[in-house]
Amino acid sequence: MTGPEDGIADLFVIGGGINGCGIARDAAGRGLSVVLAERGDLAQATSSASTKLFHGGLRYLEFFEFRLVRESLEERETLLVAMPHISWPMRFVLPWHPGMRFDSDTPTSRLLARLMPWMKGRRPAWLIRLGLFLYDRLGGRRILPATRTLDLADDPAGRPLKPEFRKAWEYSDCWVEDSRLVVLNARDAEARGARIMTATRVVGAERAGDHWQVTVEGPEGRQTHRARALVNAAGPWVAEVIGSVARINSPERVRLVRGSHIVTRRLYEHDRCYFFQGGDGRIIFAIPYEGTFTLIGTTDQDHHGDPAEARCTEAERDYLLAFASRYFARPVTAEDVVWSYSGVRPLYDDGASSATQATRDYVLSLDGDGAPLLNVFGGKITTYRRLAESALARLAPFFPAATGDWTARVPLPGGDFPHDGVAALVDRLLRDYPFLAPGHARRLIRAYGTEAFALLGAAGAMADLGRDFGATLTEAEVRWLMTREYARHAEDVVWRRTKLGLKMSAEEIAALEAWMATAG
Ligand SMILES: Cc1cc2nc3c(=O)[nH]c(=O)nc-3n(C[C@H](O)[C@H](O)[C@H](O)COP(=O)(O)OP(=O)(O)OC[C@H]3O[C@@H](n4cnc5c(N)ncnc54)[C@H](O)[C@@H]3O)c2cc1C
Repeated sequence: MTGPEDGIADLFVIGGGINGCGIARDAAGRGLSVVLAERGDLAQATSSASTKLFHGGLRYLEFFEFRLVRESLEERETLLVAMPHISWPMRFVLPWHPGMRFDSDTPTSRLLARLMPWMKGRRPAWLIRLGLFLYDRLGGRRILPATRTLDLADDPAGRPLKPEFRKAWEYSDCWVEDSRLVVLNARDAEARGARIMTATRVVGAERAGDHWQVTVEGPEGRQTHRARALVNAAGPWVAEVIGSVARINSPERVRLVRGSHIVTRRLYEHDRCYFFQGGDGRIIFAIPYEGTFTLIGTTDQDHHGDPAEARCTEAERDYLLAFASRYFARPVTAEDVVWSYSGVRPLYDDGASSATQATRDYVLSLDGDGAPLLNVFGGKITTYRRLAESALARLAPFFPAATGDWTARVPLPGGDFPHDGVAALVDRLLRDYPFLAPGHARRLIRAYGTEAFALLGAAGAMADLGRDFGATLTEAEVRWLMTREYARHAEDVVWRRTKLGLKMSAEEIAALEAWMATAG
C-alpha cells in the first residue's frame, strides 16, 4: 500500500458518516490505499441522528420506489448477520381503523382516487395488507418472521392504545445502533490499511495532473494529501464540497430535509414498536429505546441554514406529541420528553414538491473530467453497504487491480458470532466476569460483541476496570473508546459510542470530559 506521505493514495474520502466510512472499508478491503478525513467526530452529523432502522421503508411502496425497497429489504438480513451485536430484529405494530382519513398525494393515492373515487382520502385495510404482502416477499426473508394480523382487543400491543383501534398488522424490520455502525466500519477500514483522520477538515481540493491535491486542517495543522480519486461523502455538505472546496460548477443540487426525534420516558411495557399513520399522509414510529425510554419520530421539514445547527424545534416536538397522542390512550405531553435530536437528510434534489416526497434513493455522480471525483447524494443507513459497492463499481475503471465485492460475507469487528447468539454471549461474559451486573454485561455485548472480552481483559473485579464514571461506564471502556474507536470528547462517548448520556448527570459528563482531556 502507498501511504499519502510517501506517495499518492488511491482514494481520499471526505466525510466520516456511514457513507464515507462504508466506502473506505469496502475500498481498503479491495486492496486500495485509502485516506478518510472527518472534520469532527465520526457520525457526528446525519449518521447519528437517524431512526436507527434497517428497514425496507414500507411507506416508500406508496411512491412505487420498488428498487429501493427491494434492495433495502434484501440488505436487512445481510447486515443482521454481519453485525448481530449492534443490530436486531424488531416487530412493528401498525394499528388501523376504518374511519382513518389521509391527506396524501402519492402515486398510490392518486391511482386509488381514479379507480375508486369513493375511497378518496382513505387507506383501506386491503391496501395495507397488499403492501405488507409485497414487503414480506420483495426482499427474500430467511430470518425475519412474516406479517400477522393482531386483534388489539386481545393482544398486549392494544393495551396502551385508544380502544377505537381494534385491528393491527405486525411486521418485521430491524434496529441498528447507527453511530456504532459508522465507527465499526472506520475501524475495519483501518484494520485493512486505511488511514482515518478525525477532527480534520478538508478545506481545498484541486486536480493536479492525474491526481487530486487535497488540503486539510487538523490536529497537525495544515497538510496536503495526494490521491488518484476523490470521494465526496460529506452528506448535507456534499454541495458545499463540490462548490467551495473543489470549486466545481455543478447543476446537481442537494435537498436538505430535517428530521427530528423526541425521546420520552417509557410509554408502554412490551418490546414491540408502533408504526402510526397520520392524517397528513405521514407516518411516525414509537420504539422502545435504551431500556427505560421510548423514541418517537420523525418529522420531515425542508432545512435552510447550516445543517450542523439542526435542532428539534418546539413546533416539531408538539407535532410529534400530537401525532402520538392520537394513538396512545394516555396523551403524550412535553413533560414526558427527556431528550430530542435532529438530523438533516442530504437528499438528491429531484424536484419533488414536498420534503416527504423527495426520493430517499441514492445517486452517485462521477465527474471524470481529469482525476475522478465521485459525489454521493442521499442514501439510507440500510443501503450503505450496497451504496459502497456501487461507488466502487463506478471507480473500478480507474483501479483495474482492485478486487471484487466482499463486504456481504464479512462481519464487522465484534460481530463474529451467530445472529441469534446474543443471549449465549451475555451468559459467557457473565461466566468469565461474574462481578458484572447482568444489565452491564448485556450492554457491553450489544455494543462490542465478542470484543467485550478484550475490553475487560484480565479484570477480576469491578475495581480492576478503573474509575467509575456513572451508569456502568468505566475507565477501561473509555480507554478502549479513546484508543480503538477515535473518541476524543465526553460527547463522543456518551452520545455516539454509547447512549449513556440519557442516564448520566451533567456533572458526571463534565467529570468525564475533564478526565479525557488529561488521559489522552
Ligand atoms: C431523521 C432521519 C431519520 C433517518 N432514519 C433512517 C433510518 O431509520 N434508516 C435508514 O436506513 N436511514 C435513515 N436515515 C438516513 C440516513 O441517516 C442518512 O442517509 C445517512 O446517515 C447519511 O450518511 P452520510 O454519510 O451521507 O452523511 P453524514 O452522516 O452527515 O456524514 C457526512 C460527514 O461529512 C463530514 N464533513 C462535511 N464536510 C466536511 C469537510 N469539508 N471535511 C471533512 N469532513 C466533512 C461531516 O462532519 C459529516 O460527519 C435517516 C435520516 C434522518 C435525517
